[in-house]
Amino acid sequence: MPVITYDKQLYQCADGETVLQCLRRHGVSIPSSCESGVCQTCLMQGIRGKPPALAQQGLKDTLQVQHYFMACVCVPEEEMEVVLAGADITHLLEVEVLGKEPLSDDILRIYLKPAEPFDYKPGQFINLYRPDGLVRSFSLASLPQREEPLELQVRVLPGGRMSTWIQDEMSVGDKLAIKGPVGDCFYVPGKPQQNILLVGTGTGLAPLWGIVRDALDQGHTGQIHLYHGSYTADGLYLVDELRALERAHQNFIYMPCVDEAGAAEAGDATIGRADLVALTAIPDLKSWRIYLCGHPDMVAVMKKKAFLAGASLSDIYADPFVYSATDNASKADS
Ligand SMILES: Cc1cc2nc3c(=O)[nH]c(=O)nc-3n(C[C@H](O)[C@H](O)[C@H](O)COP(=O)(O)OP(=O)(O)OC[C@H]3O[C@@H](n4cnc5c(N)ncnc54)[C@H](O)[C@@H]3O)c2cc1C
Repeated sequence: MPVITYDKQLYQCADGETVLQCLRRHGVSIPSSCESGVCQTCLMQGIRGKPPALAQQGLKDTLQVQHYFMACVCVPEEEMEVVLAGADITHLLEVEVLGKEPLSDDILRIYLKPAEPFDYKPGQFINLYRPDGLVRSFSLASLPQREEPLELQVRVLPGGRMSTWIQDEMSVGDKLAIKGPVGDCFYVPGKPQQNILLVGTGTGLAPLWGIVRDALDQGHTGQIHLYHGSYTADGLYLVDELRALERAHQNFIYMPCVDEAGAAEAGDATIGRADLVALTAIPDLKSWRIYLCGHPDMVAVMKKKAFLAGASLSDIYADPFVYSATDNASKADS
């Protein structure tokens, strides 16, 4: 079994164990959040030994060649000496809370002002730090080119540590820290005529709201179809704004969808799961660009179905909102 060297100590990995699990089992605290190889909170660097390719998936090429990897999905294949990613890579940026307003019964819109210039693309995500070190990922719904403050859309989960804290305790004027931006789920100009399908559930609308407006701002001329799914009609939000966008742009179509269970209150929303409604309406996705955000099951299933319906894997961009598996209010981060 490979041995991991960290901070001059040797740690023996158990069979199939990740670097994060191994270090944690030995009482070493490493910052982490999603623990699914998505959020990059647990970014480390191999200074001896090569991390497996799976542990580098989604990292920039420049980071991959320097043997950066995500500890939560790194099952080492050889002995490695590892360090936490340096502050130059994982720079903590101060943000001030500018606003907090409801978008629905359990969804809040948060505005943040970075203390220094922050370069990002709408649809990427940031990792937001609570003062005690708890960290969670949130997608960016704002448009930098319009000089909008950073906008997050946060669903308050019953008992959710970060989201209930945001609802109950975080106030306008508070100073918090973020890291990022992270992710490749954003609009890439260059193929203005390509058709685009976006499917999101719940606050999976946050990145899509950014991506759609960015594409329209940049003069995208192909069809842009947005399917937003919710269990009940209460979970549909930004409906008026999306309808207004639809009226302003002939190539943009917005389809709110509500599950069978919420059919009685659905209003003019379509009944059915957003991914299934989208596939029924557009069964041939050859040459389409696809964005999928929100519930991890929907994202995984729809990714496969979009591929089977003809979309190229390189044209599918996905952000599964995986929930944190453990209490990670780690004090180890700096
Ligand atoms: C890349 C990425 C982007 C994300 N973007 C956003 C975003 O823009 N907006 C947003 O609101 N969230 C987003 N998330 C999810 C977010 O990071 C947090 O996981 C979420 O806010 C819950 O954190 P919490 O600390 O409040 O809950 P925790 O204290 O971590 O508790 C979450 C627990 O709630 C339970 N749970 C899971 N799903 C549900 C559910 N649907 N209803 C009720 N309980 C549930 C699970 O048992 C889970 O362990 C994103 C996640 C990722 C990975």
